[in-house]
Amino acid sequence: MSLGMLRLFKIFIYLSLFITLLNAQKINESDNHLKDFDFIKKGFESDNTLLVIGGIQGDEPGGFMAASLLATHYEIKKGSVWVIPNLNFYSIIKRSRGPYGDMNRKFAYIETHDPDYKSITRIKNYITDENVKLILNLHDGSGYYRKEHVDWLHSPDRWGQSSIIDQKNLDIKKYGNLEEISSEVCEYINSYLIREKDFYTIKNTETRLGDKEMEKSLTYFAINNGKAAFANEASKSLLLHERVYYHLLALEKYMQIMDIKYERKFDLEPLSIKDVIDNDIYISFYDNKIQLPLSEVRSILNYFPIKKDGSLQFNVSNPLMTVVKEEEHYVIHYGNREIARLSPDYMDIIEKEDSINLEVDGENKTVQFGSIVNVNDNFMITSMENIRVNVIGFVKKGAKDEAGIKIEKSDILQRYSIDKSGNIFRIEFYKNDKFTGMILINFDKEFDYENLSKIMNNSTKKELSL
Ligand SMILES: [Zn+2]
Repeated sequence: MSLGMLRLFKIFIYLSLFITLLNAQKINESDNHLKDFDFIKKGFESDNTLLVIGGIQGDEPGGFMAASLLATHYEIKKGSVWVIPNLNFYSIIKRSRGPYGDMNRKFAYIETHDPDYKSITRIKNYITDENVKLILNLHDGSGYYRKEHVDWLHSPDRWGQSSIIDQKNLDIKKYGNLEEISSEVCEYINSYLIREKDFYTIKNTETRLGDKEMEKSLTYFAINNGKAAFANEASKSLLLHERVYYHLLALEKYMQIMDIKYERKFDLEPLSIKDVIDNDIYISFYDNKIQLPLSEVRSILNYFPIKKDGSLQFNVSNPLMTVVKEEEHYVIHYGNREIARLSPDYMDIIEKEDSINLEVDGENKTVQFGSIVNVNDNFMITSMENIRVNVIGFVKKGAKDEAGIKIEKSDILQRYSIDKSGNIFRIEFYKNDKFTGMILINFDKEFDYENLSKIMNNSTKKELSL
């Protein structure tokens, strides 16, 4: 490299460093909750704990979606599983391998001022915890790993569809036969392939023999601390739900090997997995005063009630979900996806439990704020003293308060629905112009949200303070 080139290169490095810092600054101000990962303990305390990690690199959704499904849609009946579904949450939301550099190269050495320092220190504590006996790191890798070169996409340089070990054996009491375990896992996955070419192979990186890159990785750190560690790779050439399918097969085999008993809340089939990922997602605000199903949600929800000071307290049904303030919008993110933008209507919000009386298809009902009420033909909110009812999108204007009016689906403008198919509508309640709560009216007979409150009570609480 000539001196001129070197200077140019240096300027380029400084410039990209500066841009990275700028971006970091932008997020640091409002989004402390993005800098930390979730740690979810499942099952029962045991010195035979499985530690599962997803999201070390934000552009590998198969791995972190599988880990999050383990957290939300599996019940551990015997044994102990610890799940970290979003180790590098900031990189997941940014859809980038590593906004601060590759986190999986920071395990041998990390500077104390590195933005990933806190996360690395924290994850190392879990890895070295005396109860943890096996560690599984979930990745999406390029192409298809093959022992012999076949073509550009199928070769020894590729990572997809492989079970990674750093060495054959490790001299520890349990699970030190890394290669045997890895081979059992491959065999198990290979008996449930979607298509033949997806088959799994062991990839031994032989890290100890001088793989300078892999020496800096999470699994090698674990190995050097006397822990059995594996990485499972699904191919980036596959669809998301197919990658998740293969990760879950691997995961279940590791649990079987460790005699951990589990119950899954869906069928282990690619399309059922797609359904759970896309449709079983919810968010609630202000202690469940507002609950939103997100499976069909519109990309923008206008005039959404947000506290005057701009702060937002919310619960998410999935740890990969969060809200980020981006310019004038509050943006709901879910893994690599942007789900919806809330355009805020800043107002006073009264924190008060309340129930609503209404007539649904001629029957009287009492529901809590945040409920989603199924309606066939019509509904009518019962009038309450000092409470103003606003059916968002109701066309027969004139009445200031829309309680006491029998309303059908055709009385509400479809474009005001919260869902793309035009079936779910907002009803808001105000006391002296202060927001007190919301319910949703659902005209879609195919969806039943009765268990929503139960889901949201088990959800993760987060907060966006400004
Ligand atoms: Zn990876």
